[in-house]
Amino acid sequence: MKVTRRFSRGDRVCSRLAPWARYGFALALVASSAHADVLPASTVGGATYRLKVGQDEVIALSDGDFGLDTSQLLIAPAGVRLPMLLQSAHDGQVVTTSVNAYLVKTGGKLVLIDTGAADQLGDSLGKLGKSLAKAGIDPSKIDAVLLTHLHIDHVSGLMHGGTPTFPNATVWVDRRELAFWSDPSNAPKVDPVMRGTFDVVAKTLSPYRDKGRLKTFTGGAKVAPDIVATDTVGHTPGHTSFVLKSQGQQLVFWGDLIHVGDVQFPAPAITIRFDFDQPAAAQERNKALARAASSGTWIAGSHLAFPGMGHVKKNGDAFVWEPAGKP
Ligand SMILES: [Zn+2]
Ligand SMILES: [Zn+2]
Repeated sequence: MKVTRRFSRGDRVCSRLAPWARYGFALALVASSAHADVLPASTVGGATYRLKVGQDEVIALSDGDFGLDTSQLLIAPAGVRLPMLLQSAHDGQVVTTSVNAYLVKTGGKLVLIDTGAADQLGDSLGKLGKSLAKAGIDPSKIDAVLLTHLHIDHVSGLMHGGTPTFPNATVWVDRRELAFWSDPSNAPKVDPVMRGTFDVVAKTLSPYRDKGRLKTFTGGAKVAPDIVATDTVGHTPGHTSFVLKSQGQQLVFWGDLIHVGDVQFPAPAITIRFDFDQPAAAQERNKALARAASSGTWIAGSHLAFPGMGHVKKNGDAFVWEPAGKP
């Protein structure tokens, strides 16, 4: 597969882990004094990474990183030894986790996939605007925003300073996903740490809806040139992956099928508290991993280490991630 790579670095600064507590993510919060990590230089100040897929171009855009407390958030089934997996990946209890968005140049259109956390989850995130600027992309020129799902770290970047960040874009989301998060009476159905999502979804999507720029789709729909939506429900009620195909080449934008690659590639049955339907989330992950390994397609994951693009290989009952070239 023909690949071109360009990478721009951000400034290296000390991390301050995200104040997830604001939206009930207290379990994921680790005080910066207790975890004096340094974030990867590649993602701090906004960063980009380019990949050619057929005649289309994909640009990975960093929104930043946050510290994910595996002891509080990951759920390992009986027989899966999470601490051992973390240790063998040289991870501590808190794993620095990327938040990635992707821009696709396809058919003369600019299509953004997910929008990052904006100012909702602390200053280690919300770098999407900087990354777009580094990529030379004017947000007002973006034609469409495709949302894999409506969690805060994917939807919040739709707004900036109280106005739409992408004023000329049509926003696309799965019909069931929108219906679920638009109805606050569903709050008891989700983990308490996720209940702030209803409020954020209302605030970030309403301005687009009011202008007739919010559209829904169902699985299998073509949502942009060369891009088809595919159901991967489990993490949320309408979680979607997007498949980009051009000239026989393919890249699948996974969304949140995987959060902590170091443990979920070797043990896909491990789930995360944020999963709406734990068994379905694990099942979709397993299916997606098997498909990716057998087809050899490019994968882009929202929370895989920036740029989050690479290939999956099978290794017995487990899977291995082969990331695109290091910066
Ligand atoms: Zn999510
Ligand atoms: Zn996410």
